[in-house]
Amino acid sequence: ATPTSIMVGTGKAAEHGILFKGGEHLQNTQKINAVVLDKTGTITKGEPELTDYYPVEISEEQLLKIVASIEQNSEHPIGKAIVNGVKEKGISLLSTTDFEIVPGNGLQANVEGEMVYVGTRRFINRLGIEVGELETKMTRLEEEGKTVVVAATSEKLLGILAVADTVKEDSQQAISKLKEMGIKVVMITGDNLRTAKSIAAKVGVDEVRAEVLPEDKAKEVQKLKDQGYAVAMVGDGINDAPALATADVGIAIGTGTDIAIEAADVTLIGGSLKGIADAIFISKKTMRNIK
Ligand code: ADP
Ligand code: MG
Repeated sequence: ATPTSIMVGTGKAAEHGILFKGGEHLQNTQKINAVVLDKTGTITKGEPELTDYYPVEISEEQLLKIVASIEQNSEHPIGKAIVNGVKEKGISLLSTTDFEIVPGNGLQANVEGEMVYVGTRRFINRLGIEVGELETKMTRLEEEGKTVVVAATSEKLLGILAVADTVKEDSQQAISKLKEMGIKVVMITGDNLRTAKSIAAKVGVDEVRAEVLPEDKAKEVQKLKDQGYAVAMVGDGINDAPALATADVGIAIGTGTDIAIEAADVTLIGGSLKGIADAIFISKKTMRNIK
């Protein structure tokens, strides 16, 4: 391998908004034959909006007030979407105590003397609370690709809220290009299976790993490596950092968190997934020149 051709390749990549941290990563990228894509913020824009809400035995305003008050403490895009959506309605928020995040599940806090839990169905079911009468609505929302947030006390269901994230304009095109190149494409997410499948169908991803806890994303990448794949992991979040480090090539979305960018070998500045195929192409071309 000549250092000069690697320098040229790295420069060429940079012109396309693809930043390799070192020449060895440019060399590794040519052999990639499986790409694992995070959903939120990678395939989608990661800027969800509050779209639906259904209270149970309390008013809409009460439900929105309670949930947004808890989500004020959250850095998660879902939390931000809920807080923004509720504030826009002119609803004022309450202060909370005993706030706690449960990674991959949701969060909890004491609101006016009572603990309230906000998050996945799994999280709420663990309290012994069922979605019950809202089941049909919840299923429909998830089939639309929305993420449903369930709110409950330890005694009863308070309601559900849905947030919708949109896929990036060119995600589908970028994914179809990878498939044309004979690359296995897998979507990975902490979100529920129904929502995940809906988004995957929109962008043409056939393989989905959903409800993956943050600490298990890296294990999924390792499994593919054990099967003999040369794996690129693409992600934007703090949750993705271990998986980015585990992959043969970790690719961060430039608009994502610093932690993901630090853990990755490559950064896609603009955030478009088209950079993945471009990176592989430039790597292959560079390595051919070397041989
Ligand atoms: P990802 O970033 O892959 O979507 P996370 O592991 O961050 O997944 O979250 C998994 C799931 O946990 C989310 O899809 C959501 O249902 C729930 N969740 C996480 N954070 C929050 C939050 N702040 N409010 C409500 N639900 C949340
Ligand atoms: Mg993400």
